[in-house]
Amino acid sequence: MRRQQLRPPATGRFAPSPTGDLHFGSLLAAVASYLQAKSCGGQWLVRIEDIDPPREVAGSATRILRDLQRFGLRSDLPVLYQSTRYAAYRAALEKLLHRGLAFRCGCSRADLPRSGVYPGTCRNGLRPGKHARTVRLRVPSQPVSFTDQVQGNIEECLAETVGDFVLWRADDLPAYQLAVVIDDEFQQVTQVVRGADLLTSTARQIHLQQCLNLPVPTYAHYPVVNGADGRKLSKRLSSDPIATTEPAPALAAALRFLGQPCPGGLDLDQTWRWAGEHWRLSQIPRKNPAPAAAQPVSDSGSSR
Ligand code: GLU
Repeated sequence: MRRQQLRPPATGRFAPSPTGDLHFGSLLAAVASYLQAKSCGGQWLVRIEDIDPPREVAGSATRILRDLQRFGLRSDLPVLYQSTRYAAYRAALEKLLHRGLAFRCGCSRADLPRSGVYPGTCRNGLRPGKHARTVRLRVPSQPVSFTDQVQGNIEECLAETVGDFVLWRADDLPAYQLAVVIDDEFQQVTQVVRGADLLTSTARQIHLQQCLNLPVPTYAHYPVVNGADGRKLSKRLSSDPIATTEPAPALAAALRFLGQPCPGGLDLDQTWRWAGEHWRLSQIPRKNPAPAAAQPVSDSGSSR
């Protein structure tokens, strides 16, 4: 019998942290990752990144999922909660420690330089009298390179930008970088589409994937809403909960921000239909589009 070669289907994901309600910025991540996965005939998953109890806002995970539903966005598989996955993060950590790729570090915040770049203090063992506080991953001296589907070729020398970075925190919680890499693999994510605020995490994640022999997904980072070029959406639109906005014009605005020239005056179903037919990742601008193109309410007049 011939064995069929099984290729994993295109899988995208939206991975919000429950640190607040869905707002325009996080809607962009949901919409862009969803449309990119669907345009490849793939599946779209939602993962709640609830591994940081100190920063969690009570009830926000439930409200994020409710707001996604208002937009017609549903995970193709049951929602994964990272708080159920500690054993997997621990196992990966032990593997890295065992192979000498990670090490225990006794430095507190006060021991670290202002630059934020870890100077390698505990690389070769804890200093006398210090106890282990965190676990860090060794970073290579040669740069990590990747091609971002929106931002182009990127090269980052982790030794210069961050140094050996934390995988397990002093409060005995897994760090975001570890959890995200373990779960992108667990959920067989093949494409990551998210805001450029996370671009500085990508080289770290790729290095970690390589250390663990995990597949590297494709990456696409759209510009963040509050761009450094000063052309911003108003604070209200970018950070207010989206629950107070009509879904159709907010979706149209998200599309326009992402470089997809969605016409005005469509209802939610029509907007999704338009998006399904016209979505092009290649049209996402590298930098913020002009504010006029990004205004969510230009076609409805009833934004709030
Ligand atoms: N949980 C992260 C956030 O809400 C996003 C993680 C990711 O997309 O990799 O900012």
